[in-house]
Amino acid sequence: LNKGGFNPAPDTDYGRESNLVKARQALTIVNNQLGKTYLPLINGEYVETDEYIHSVNPSTPSQIVGKIGLISLSQADQAMETAKEAFKTWSKTSATQRAEILRRAADIMEQKRHELTAWMCFEVGKILKEGDPEVSEAIDFCRYYASEMERLEQGYNYDVAGENDRYFYQPKGIALIISPWNFPFAIATGMTVAALVAGNCALLKPAATSTVIGAKIAEILTEAGIPKGVFQYIPGKGSVVGDYLVKHPDIHLIAFTGSREVGCKIYADAAILQPKQKHLKKVIAEMGGKNAIIIDESADLDQGVAGVVQSAFGFSGQKCSACSRVIVLNTVYDAFVERLTEAVKSLNVGDAKNPSTKIGPVIDASAQARILQYIEKGKEQGTLAIQVEAPEQGYFVPPTVFTDVTEDAVIAQEEIFGPVLAVIKANSFDHALAIANGTDYALTGGLYSRTPAHIDRAYKEFEVGNLYINRGITGAIVARQPFGGFKLSGVGSKAGGPDYLLQFLEPRVVTENI
Ligand code: NAD
Repeated sequence: LNKGGFNPAPDTDYGRESNLVKARQALTIVNNQLGKTYLPLINGEYVETDEYIHSVNPSTPSQIVGKIGLISLSQADQAMETAKEAFKTWSKTSATQRAEILRRAADIMEQKRHELTAWMCFEVGKILKEGDPEVSEAIDFCRYYASEMERLEQGYNYDVAGENDRYFYQPKGIALIISPWNFPFAIATGMTVAALVAGNCALLKPAATSTVIGAKIAEILTEAGIPKGVFQYIPGKGSVVGDYLVKHPDIHLIAFTGSREVGCKIYADAAILQPKQKHLKKVIAEMGGKNAIIIDESADLDQGVAGVVQSAFGFSGQKCSACSRVIVLNTVYDAFVERLTEAVKSLNVGDAKNPSTKIGPVIDASAQARILQYIEKGKEQGTLAIQVEAPEQGYFVPPTVFTDVTEDAVIAQEEIFGPVLAVIKANSFDHALAIANGTDYALTGGLYSRTPAHIDRAYKEFEVGNLYINRGITGAIVARQPFGGFKLSGVGSKAGGPDYLLQFLEPRVVTENI
């Protein structure tokens, strides 16, 4: 139990044979269900669509994970109308009633844990050990936001003699949730249930490459008892349906997680007052990172290497929190690089469902091409220190480390979102901090050091939303490491933290003269 009294769901211990058996059974069950059709959920009904896309397995792109119906703009309007109708009653239900639905959803996720992990393995190429904690995170979001809403519903009482002063919260209205594919279950669930438990109606538009997992969220929320129209699952093209709904006059709130390019566009579009719009839209935008780990001369290098390798290459570097720069003090640079390249050599790249695979594929062909271009750029701008073998079939990218990279090189500045690590040499700790802070982003960062003065300076000067000292920089846990960045990494309060739900609420004060 942490200090806040919140008890996170434990991940599966794959060291136990019984868990491995369950995980393998789940892979078989999911394998037998591949290729089914998933339809949008509008006003409690699964509706037919004119357009369909295929979601494929990035380890084996010929394998269709699901066929997904994409909504049209008139279906988007329908979803909006029914959400507005449902809001009339949902906004008046008690926080306890809403919280109960989230708790039931969490229990269902717990029961379906292995299957959900298997779906992520097939649809986005996550190895089981990376997918399972994502199920835990989604469960934690449900349970944590449920209790957070019950706390907030108390409001504040500022009464004085002769006057009642009550401070309380009401929901904002209709929330549009636009989620990314890289944490297809946890992030989409977290943003959605936060909106719902606060009394808003939510429209979930998942990323195209993870729409089947989006459909699983819809199934779970329906089973948990969410009333029709309150939650709607609306797969559709981001640039068409997403764009249309962002600009819709009846949207009150947009919770977005994804790239900087799309996030900045949504932020700007949402700021424009549309005809008949009677409010300003709230935008929560969680965007990218160019995260660095500093290794100083006092660091435990073995610990540092292990932390860097896991942070840089876990889920093929496709985490917003991933380490893509390691900044090493010159006195330990050679020793660190030697151990790092040794460790990277042992990364086994392959099909995400194989038990021996450490690094699976990247999400799709365009991501693969983009990352390979960055690798070519890296060869011009740094020294190729090591590149691991990767299978030819499937969307695989070989884990790659460049050394002698300058701090202003393209691969040291732009978010690559793949298994590519730039090693940068620093002359002093001051220099290391300056390099670390020298990008547009401020999401995660790390320091390996046994020097208290350095740790103290990192606390104060390392410009990131989440700083990790002497450990890896990925895998934030709800209510323990509330997560989110600033600068061009995003705008909004930390997910899984005590301020998060406030963004989904409208505070009000009523003063009564008595
Ligand atoms: P993306 O921006 O391409 O897509 C995100 C979502 O936006 C998708 O649902 C997409 O369909 C939708 N979209 C695309 N164009 C749109 C438009 N014009 N209007 C409305 N919606 C539109 O991002 P992605 O590739 O899915 O995710 C990877 C990115 O997400 C990386 O940059 C990563 O760093 C970031 N990310 C950040 C966090 C965080 O917490 N800060 C977490 C996960 C991922």
